[in-house]
Amino acid sequence: MPLSNAWATIDHAALLHNVSRVSELAPNSNIMAVIKSLAYGHGAVSLAYALQRKVDAFAVARIEEGLALRAEGITKAILVLEGLCSPEQLSLAQQHQLDVAIHHPKQLAWLEALGGPLGCWIKVDSGMSRLGLHPDQVPEVLAAVQQHKYLKLKGAMTHLANADDPQDSKTDVQLAAFNGIAWPDDLALSIANSAAVLTRPDAHADWVRPGLMLYGASPLLNQSAQSLGLKPVMQLSSRLISIKQLNAGDTVGYGATWQADEVMPMGIVGIGYGDGYPREVPAEAYVLINGKQAPIIGRVSMDMMTVDLRGIDCVIGDEVTLWGEGLPIDLVAQWTNTIAYTLMCGVTQRVQRINKS
Ligand SMILES: *Cc1c(COP(=O)(O)O)cnc(C)c1O
Repeated sequence: MPLSNAWATIDHAALLHNVSRVSELAPNSNIMAVIKSLAYGHGAVSLAYALQRKVDAFAVARIEEGLALRAEGITKAILVLEGLCSPEQLSLAQQHQLDVAIHHPKQLAWLEALGGPLGCWIKVDSGMSRLGLHPDQVPEVLAAVQQHKYLKLKGAMTHLANADDPQDSKTDVQLAAFNGIAWPDDLALSIANSAAVLTRPDAHADWVRPGLMLYGASPLLNQSAQSLGLKPVMQLSSRLISIKQLNAGDTVGYGATWQADEVMPMGIVGIGYGDGYPREVPAEAYVLINGKQAPIIGRVSMDMMTVDLRGIDCVIGDEVTLWGEGLPIDLVAQWTNTIAYTLMCGVTQRVQRINKS
């Protein structure tokens, strides 16, 4: 067990399994693995190393995320999804060969100062109303990119707003808008996030851009990761740092929100909201100790939480699972009215990441 009281084991075998699920589902598409936000909290550099021979490119949100990967020796293509956000970023992108998304004509003006080769993708807003060119703006920008002395156009992309719900007709509207653009025949196209990789073969196109599914959580409403053939990559763990006896009438934790109605054993687990575990858990929330469900009692505090140990055979020092194998992160997200994305990204820096191959 690690020195730290709170750690996240990052299972590279599960990661590679999930990539092979992407390949199975979209056999004719290249894979751009989305590793923004520190690979959804898993650690971008180690994941990039683990993934680099299985995928065709990486995507990050911001230029500094790309620079961090380059600084650690990642040489594969990296697309910066937000593209240039100031003219100062241009020479860095060029120097470190970070491909940029072009989502606004203003970025083209900045690119006039480019003095060497740079890869780019045209990003279209097909209906999400976030980043992207209006389809009507595409012909002009496309022509400008193609005529640029140094820009190398690698493809065109769009992002889906409602692919997590396969019944939602907005996806069809977005596909029609994007596919209705008069793209050059040989231009690579990219549409699908994880949800569309899983449910919309008609959106796989030349490149898929999975994020969440690589990490083994479900991007779909009402479908478990396991039923989608995905394995959890992160196991969030802690240990029992104390075991005590409560008497009938004793209250537990801040606000005294929980009260024992009999003599009972209670455990204190060395992890809390300062590690990214959500504070707002409902009464049915539990952790796993030696394969058994131990209900969380009282409020989650910054560094600790308290659990009901009735019926659980355990000693101080035993490992506690907060999510991972046997306790899906999607369930914790459901308890707390959030999504697996925010839980993963919210695991704080003091949680030690331990890579397991
Ligand atoms: C984050 C992101 C993705 C990945 O989305 P998932 O739902 O995690 O698969 C793909 N494309 C773009 C543009 C993104 O911002």
